[in-house]
Amino acid sequence: MGAIARRVAKGLAAWLVHYSGLRGAMRSIQRRRSGGRRIAIVSYHRVVEDFEGELRRSIPGLLVSKETFRRHLEEAHAAGYRFATIDQALEALAGTGLGNKDLFVVTFDDGYRDAYLHAVPVLERMGVPAIFYLSTGLVGTGRRLDHDRLYHLARLVRARRLRPLYAAMPAPAAALIEPVLSGRSSISAALDRFISEHPAREMGEVVVALEAQLGGGQGLLPEQGELLSWEEARRMAARGFQLGAHTSEHVVLTHEPRERVDAEIAASKEAIERETGHRVQHFAYCNGWYSDEVVRSLVRQGFRSAVTTEDLPNVVGGDPFALRRGVLWENFSLGMLGDYSPSLTACQLDGIFGMLGLRPAVIGRRPPRRST
Ligand SMILES: [Zn+2]
Repeated sequence: MGAIARRVAKGLAAWLVHYSGLRGAMRSIQRRRSGGRRIAIVSYHRVVEDFEGELRRSIPGLLVSKETFRRHLEEAHAAGYRFATIDQALEALAGTGLGNKDLFVVTFDDGYRDAYLHAVPVLERMGVPAIFYLSTGLVGTGRRLDHDRLYHLARLVRARRLRPLYAAMPAPAAALIEPVLSGRSSISAALDRFISEHPAREMGEVVVALEAQLGGGQGLLPEQGELLSWEEARRMAARGFQLGAHTSEHVVLTHEPRERVDAEIAASKEAIERETGHRVQHFAYCNGWYSDEVVRSLVRQGFRSAVTTEDLPNVVGGDPFALRRGVLWENFSLGMLGDYSPSLTACQLDGIFGMLGLRPAVIGRRPPRRST
């Protein structure tokens, strides 16, 4: 199905489900299928004041406006969910939690400063708990995440109509830039594909090579995408928000050798514990990808849970190291006419499109490496 057809189908389904009374019935089916209660975990990245402005320079799928974020929370509350911590969700999944209410867990990945600035006040006002998963090597450094740097550099290459000298760059650079310059692919799509195929070292090499092609100097590091400081992280922890680990250098662990897997997990846990004095037991997989080897390393290092980006319902008795989580952003709530749609948001939060087969599930578990 094409993107527009899918949007119309979703809009119609949302309208029908929302206004026909089907929702109650679908929720009961979902509760039965999940073992008695629904446990929704959602993920955000950046929360911004000026969505349209940020959209012009940032990876779209990482953005949500402060206003839409607040509406998502209101919609979840109206849908009967109780806001919960990741620990409460784990108890519910283990079947030891109190009550049988549907739970809704809010999470943030990467440690963007704008999430601290704009989401925390909304969360506090509404009394909603949340966990922030930090890529600790970048916290408080002024550095930017490689995905933000590559997005920015690809935009510059396109805007300056540069013809990159592929021969002078590492081989993977062409895989990122060529589809963008030829118009075959959006920068986001090319970047997604690139991240799913190349280890952290190659990403770093492409950043360096593209910067050289662009002549070096100021303006090559994106202004946007700033991460928070340790002082801000401490302030959040003091106000009751939880901090979780998300590797040190934002590394997709399934691409890396075992020593790097262990080191990335250890470094991010230690940094948060050292800087805030709070114990870290929860992890978020970069790109949502994991393997048995990664899970074993987390268990060895004292973690109790890890979240994926598998947009599927959690089921009582499910694996705490493969927690399923929906990634939300601004356009997640756009209806048929391209404006904010409460019925669509409600259906999305209810996972109704997955039930109807209108949304393909993304599976994060990766096969074991053939050689080590
Ligand atoms: Zn991330």
